[in-house]
Amino acid sequence: MKRPGARILALWAAALLTVIAFAAAQAARNDQVHRETLYVFGTLVEIEIRGEQRDTALTATAAVGQVLQQLHRDWHAWRPGALNDLNAAIARGEAHAVDPRLAGILHEARRLSCESGGLFDPAIGALVALWGFHADTPPQGAPPSPESVAALVAARPRITDLHLDGTDIRSANPAVQLDLGGFAKGAALDLAAAELRARGIDNAVLNAGGDVNVLGTHGRRPWRVAIRDPFVWGAVAALSLRPGEVLYTSGNYERYFEHEGERFAHIIDPRTGYPVREIVSVSVLDTDGARADAAATALAVAGRADWARVAAAMGVSAVLMITDTGELLVTQAMLDRLDPAGEGFPDKVMVVDLPDAAPNPACDG
Ligand code: AMP
Ligand code: MG
Repeated sequence: MKRPGARILALWAAALLTVIAFAAAQAARNDQVHRETLYVFGTLVEIEIRGEQRDTALTATAAVGQVLQQLHRDWHAWRPGALNDLNAAIARGEAHAVDPRLAGILHEARRLSCESGGLFDPAIGALVALWGFHADTPPQGAPPSPESVAALVAARPRITDLHLDGTDIRSANPAVQLDLGGFAKGAALDLAAAELRARGIDNAVLNAGGDVNVLGTHGRRPWRVAIRDPFVWGAVAALSLRPGEVLYTSGNYERYFEHEGERFAHIIDPRTGYPVREIVSVSVLDTDGARADAAATALAVAGRADWARVAAAMGVSAVLMITDTGELLVTQAMLDRLDPAGEGFPDKVMVVDLPDAAPNPACDG
């Protein structure tokens, strides 16, 4: 008969071996990486899933691909599709029924626009088209005439003109032409992330040209992302995203055309009808893709003087803004998270405090 001490020792050894085997299996699982790239929303969307069996990851990626392709068709600003049909009905002054997902996104767009004080306004599709950005390639030639810009601004298209009665949509103003480009990527990646979660995927990144939503972690470390330097090839900073965080950047270097030495970018100030100039890039770190994307666009319009107020009104706190003169304006919440690229930040970093802002109840309707 074995001594009790030896038996306990043997039991401990067996338990230890089981733990080691389990940890090894877990590590192997965590090391499994599945990557795929889709072309949607005029950009490449990279999906990386970690720690799942190949079959699970493949099925989940295919499902996400389907969701994104469908949204791309339904929400396209100028190709035939659901949004196009709605725009045509609005121009005719008619009510139009849309699918529940599009109705939901219009509700969200209206709320975000209201919070931004109209600086983010997806009703300015006619202006975006007038500037030539309703095309897959950047426009060429001269900007539109001041008269044509002024005429569209005078028609005051606002997404707050929309009446949303369930899925029935009507506009009080026939000049409203919806272009969801200012936040479609964020709204779509939120839905894609929800699809992954619903399929039990815990660790993944969805990256649409530097705009990212993450789930969980990258193995034992967090997901890392970089913020592009808008002036030279490279990054200004990198940061680690916590599970569920998103990072969205808007910039005048993404889509633009040049005429006689002047740059005309695709982000348009609804108040003037002209493209933004002062702000070269705005990055927003948040937990909601739609809000971060809409806020990045709105803050680019708000410019140096007004962005802190608009950020607070939209409920975002971590912002990095790069101006046309190369200044870095940053909130403390963002600065705490940034790892500067290279030697550290230049002298031109300015920390900006956000004012207190209560949510505007008028925006919930
Ligand atoms: P983003 O890259 O997220 O800033 O989105 C830019 C896109 O949003 C443009 O290509 C237009 O389709 C659309 N857009 C431009 N200006 C605005 C604006 N002030 N509010 C909402 N959407 C806009
Ligand atoms: Mg945006």
